[in-house]
Amino acid sequence: MLTAPKELLNESACDHHTNKKTACNRPTPGATTGGCAFEGAQISLFPYAEAAHIVHGPITCLGASWETRATPTSFSGRDLTQVGLTTAISENDVIFGGEKRLSASIDEAMHTFNPKAIFIYSTCVTALIGDDIDAICREKAQQYGLPIVPVHAPGFIGSKNFGSRLAGEAVLEHLIGTLEPESTAPYEINLIGEYNVTGDMWRYLPVLEKIGIKVRATLSGDGRIDAIRTAHRAGLNVIVCAQSLVTLTRKMQERYGIPWVSVSFYGQRDTSEAIRTIVRAFGDAALIDRAEAVITEEEAKLSKQLEPIRTRLAGKKAVLNTGGNKAWSFASALQDIGLKVVATAVGKSTEADRAKAREYLGEEGVLMTKPAVEQPKVIADTQADILLAGGRSLYTALKKKIAFVDVNQEKKVSYGGYDGLVAFGEDVIAALDNPVFKVANREAPWRH
Ligand code: SF4
Repeated sequence: MLTAPKELLNESACDHHTNKKTACNRPTPGATTGGCAFEGAQISLFPYAEAAHIVHGPITCLGASWETRATPTSFSGRDLTQVGLTTAISENDVIFGGEKRLSASIDEAMHTFNPKAIFIYSTCVTALIGDDIDAICREKAQQYGLPIVPVHAPGFIGSKNFGSRLAGEAVLEHLIGTLEPESTAPYEINLIGEYNVTGDMWRYLPVLEKIGIKVRATLSGDGRIDAIRTAHRAGLNVIVCAQSLVTLTRKMQERYGIPWVSVSFYGQRDTSEAIRTIVRAFGDAALIDRAEAVITEEEAKLSKQLEPIRTRLAGKKAVLNTGGNKAWSFASALQDIGLKVVATAVGKSTEADRAKAREYLGEEGVLMTKPAVEQPKVIADTQADILLAGGRSLYTALKKKIAFVDVNQEKKVSYGGYDGLVAFGEDVIAALDNPVFKVANREAPWRH
């Protein structure tokens, strides 16, 4: 039976690895209600648009995460993330095994789409019946001469975050280091955990390029299979908003000697800090000077654009309910556009993220560990004007008659980099000006 590798459950590169109580992603009863491991793995790898993604399990598993995030691609061929592929195993396969069906599905995907690689995701049922997907992937990879990657993250193994970690393992074992690049540039980075949701990455890449930093590969926003295969030749791994992939970066450091840094590209201060962190890691004085010049130029331009936004938002109070390092990175972006952040949710954040959230919010800021329960009370107590959260919290905003902006992966607008902060400010103003939040929960006229 498949067991979770112990080391992945207690990552040595995480700050809390010596603290048993907060060790990473141990399977806990009910953990999959926030997204199962398979879902996390598929979300992590799905943005590779030129690869086929076959879910080996009942058809319902595919629906758990397919197309839940807007992760655009500039790939000019057929975007296979728009095609849901599954072996859709039946009761018959559970009794007699689903391997033949998986084999046939790979053949069909090859002949229909001619992908650059194929990811095969195991799910609860196919892991439990013991289908040997490794053997099938090996055989088919030889037959077709392209990477066919088994992803062992069945739902029961743990949380969504743990699934991301397992997806990182699959990429490390089967893709990274399997191809040599034709050429390399002096300052090349890999973006790890950047999913390019709503095109966030495209906001800040031009700024990095201006400084002279090139992206060799991304895991996995707008990703290319050949690029990730050559990722071992980059000079630096940059973790963007996904601590769950720290294992991958730690192992790449051990295996290929690539150092890593962790940054956020939300908000003015954090975008500037992210650029500084990257150039300092390369340690080239000329590169650092170039970066400072570009930061000065971009911040001056941004300040002008933000002036009316800051004036309009001065004195407004915000409650933030999102996950991971967004607990502080979005708080910083909100402060950059002039709001006071009175509370943020840290239930899904690491110890380091919590400390940073405290630093940004100050001593009087509320760090919510159970936001579903605490949120309405915090809004009432602090007299907050706006709630920024995932779609599920919209109802709370309507009930409390305060404005709402979706900042989770279902968001529709890109808020990354300097330009994204202006778009963020405009969306916050639009929400505050939107009368629907006051009207929607008004008492029915006949009840007056
Ligand atoms: S992998 Fe398991 S937990 Fe996840 S959607 Fe499928 S059956 Fe549900």
